[in-house]
Amino acid sequence: MPEYANIVIDISHEKLDKIFQYRIPEALRTDLAVGMRVSVPFGAGNRVTAGYVVGLTEEASYDPEKIKEIKGLVPGSIPIESQLIALADWMRENYGGTMNHALKTVLPIKQKAAEKKQRFVSLAVSREEAKEQLALFEKKHYTARARLMSALLEQSPIPYETVVVKWNISFAVIRSMKKMGMVNVEERRLFRSPFGEIPQEGQRLALNEDQRQVVARIWQEWQQGCRRTYLIHGVTGSGKTAVYIELIERVVQAGRQAIVLIPEIALTYQTVARFYQRFGERVSILNSKMSAGERSDQFERASQGEVDVMIGPRSALFTPFSDLGMIIIDEEHESSYKSETLPRYHARETAIARAGMAGASVVLGSATPSVDSYYKARKGEYVLLELEKRIDEKPLPACHMVDLREELRRGNRSILSEKLQALMEQRLSDGQQVMLFLNRRGLAGVITCRSCGYVPKCPHCDVSLSQHNNGKAVCHYCGYEEPVPETCPQCGSTYISGFKAGTQKIEEIVRARFPKARVLRMDYDTTRRKDGYEKILSAFSNQEADILIGTQMIVKGHDFPNVTLVGVLAADLSLHVGDYRAAERTFQLITQAAGRAGRGRLPGEVVIQTYTPDHYCMRLSQSQDYKRFYEAEAAYRALLHYPPCGHMMVMLVASGDEMTATLLMELLAGKIRKAQEGGKLQGLSIIGPASPPVAKMKDIYRRVMYFKHGDYQELVNIKDVLEQFVARHHEFAAATIQFDFDPMGGF
Ligand code: ADP
Ligand code: ZN
Ligand code: ZN
Repeated sequence: MPEYANIVIDISHEKLDKIFQYRIPEALRTDLAVGMRVSVPFGAGNRVTAGYVVGLTEEASYDPEKIKEIKGLVPGSIPIESQLIALADWMRENYGGTMNHALKTVLPIKQKAAEKKQRFVSLAVSREEAKEQLALFEKKHYTARARLMSALLEQSPIPYETVVVKWNISFAVIRSMKKMGMVNVEERRLFRSPFGEIPQEGQRLALNEDQRQVVARIWQEWQQGCRRTYLIHGVTGSGKTAVYIELIERVVQAGRQAIVLIPEIALTYQTVARFYQRFGERVSILNSKMSAGERSDQFERASQGEVDVMIGPRSALFTPFSDLGMIIIDEEHESSYKSETLPRYHARETAIARAGMAGASVVLGSATPSVDSYYKARKGEYVLLELEKRIDEKPLPACHMVDLREELRRGNRSILSEKLQALMEQRLSDGQQVMLFLNRRGLAGVITCRSCGYVPKCPHCDVSLSQHNNGKAVCHYCGYEEPVPETCPQCGSTYISGFKAGTQKIEEIVRARFPKARVLRMDYDTTRRKDGYEKILSAFSNQEADILIGTQMIVKGHDFPNVTLVGVLAADLSLHVGDYRAAERTFQLITQAAGRAGRGRLPGEVVIQTYTPDHYCMRLSQSQDYKRFYEAEAAYRALLHYPPCGHMMVMLVASGDEMTATLLMELLAGKIRKAQEGGKLQGLSIIGPASPPVAKMKDIYRRVMYFKHGDYQELVNIKDVLEQFVARHHEFAAATIQFDFDPMGGF
């Protein structure tokens, strides 16, 4: 039974580090929980103030004599901060890391910086009256007053400075007009609007039958007070966004709010405009390019009830809505929903936890659901809903598979296959557009035989080996290594090496082959500048270019009606990234890329170029058969106990001192092995310790170890024990230990 509570008094960004400990009175011991609001005596005068419980403990961290006692619970409804604090506690428990990390992730950052206030001048009379007055002023040659009136008739309110500077009107004139009751001068908090000018019209779509059914199912349960997690599996272009908008509208009409998570990369003008057209100023967006001030403005607006819908990447999940009714996660399979910094939370699971606390539903959507989500949907944990057809029954594009080994055999060494070249030629002469997608994910280090497609794999883990600088091929899970072969063990060819060809190189090749074509390239280099991304997309959308070459950036959610050909240049490259999700990611990328073709009036075609056409992932992405892909993939995961058929936890030990990192890792690994030998930790398998892909980062040495268990909670327990062990052993103060559950990228 916990006797002490850790409490934060002021939830402003800077003060989070200051946590005070209080004794819990007997009467509260069984009921007190993290997130609750309590009143406590504070400071030298023991002024009674409110605070939030952020932790419970049995041991006092200070002299117990000096610890004050909690006075009681603060009555009334639970404020939103309580819910977010409880969520932080859930995240700390499920993903590791400290409460501080978790709190800083979930709590709205209140900026200390002065609020921007601005004075505005506005019309205090009707337009008719203003027009009469204007005529009167003009007649009397009161030119300054006339100027102000006509300016306000054009726009009202106008910032005070503009009136003075641009319209050259003196303070005296404004003051006397105010006295006359003609104008108002008001101070307003200035919220920096994230939107430029988006016209708020656009016609309403009438949903088709399939869309209506999905909406009806979710809405019916929502109205009955049944809150669940839904997975909408809808092919690309099946109208998922229209379904989200319809649902949100109903939630908002019911007086609740909604959060829409969208991967940052798909957060384009196009998408935002669709929401804005329906919800106007009641929708707000977050993105990572915003300053802290801009973000906190948006959160502030949300907590003051000025906004009903928040759209943004992962972090929008923590929008302080007081009466959240629905969370939507579009492209739910995206790996960007997993945080790569502490706490390493997954937005999907965290959304479900928050929805549980808020009484909200969760709607996940994807054309290629994550294996995790589909598995849960199959087990009945989520409700599976399907949109099987594109809007207006537009056909999915026809997919051609090209075997790059054949091309090499025929003497074509170009990255553009003959088939692709021929189709490109055709499109260019027909005035249609082409997208070329280079699958670059995990390119570094993948070893392939260009002649037969052979890829060396770890004999223990069945993941691909990666080329390290030392000339070795290494397994990132278990540390197994062998020399990089000089000739292919399968076919004897010498064309075996790490793959090298960037988007820039491809642009050169394309320009040389099609000198008349207008080519755009979108990659890290060309989008670094602010707006670079948006500019390239809009140029392509306005048909200022014929060919767009890019990395994963170009495959997300864009709607280019004139694109009728998509080329996937080296489709299988991401298949050989050394982790168990490689096939899943590859299938998703190919399907999403293919989904860009034929969205307009004209049907589309896709060319998938690969060295391994027989791999199930290649065959099934050609037919865009998600379900069969899922079956094959789930079978593989089950065989090797990879998530979702079991869970995985990675432990990272890092230290500036190599010896310390190695020693601590050996000690922890030894502890686990000993427990296993003693018959404990049933069902646990361990892999490693090993060096992660980046074994040394910024002069910090890193070691990893993998744990697999069917029960997530068992892994959480192991994490707790190891964390506490390290905290007790001060000789390892120079080392840090971190965990990642069901890793997406890993350390
Ligand atoms: P998804 O999100 O599944 O890829 P979208 O919601 O973007 O699909 O819809 C694809 C296209 O179809 C968009 O241009 C959208 O405006 C249009 N659309 C969606 N629903 C309808 C509908 N019921 N009637 C006509 N057009 C629709
Ligand atoms: Zn070979
Ligand atoms: Zn291995």
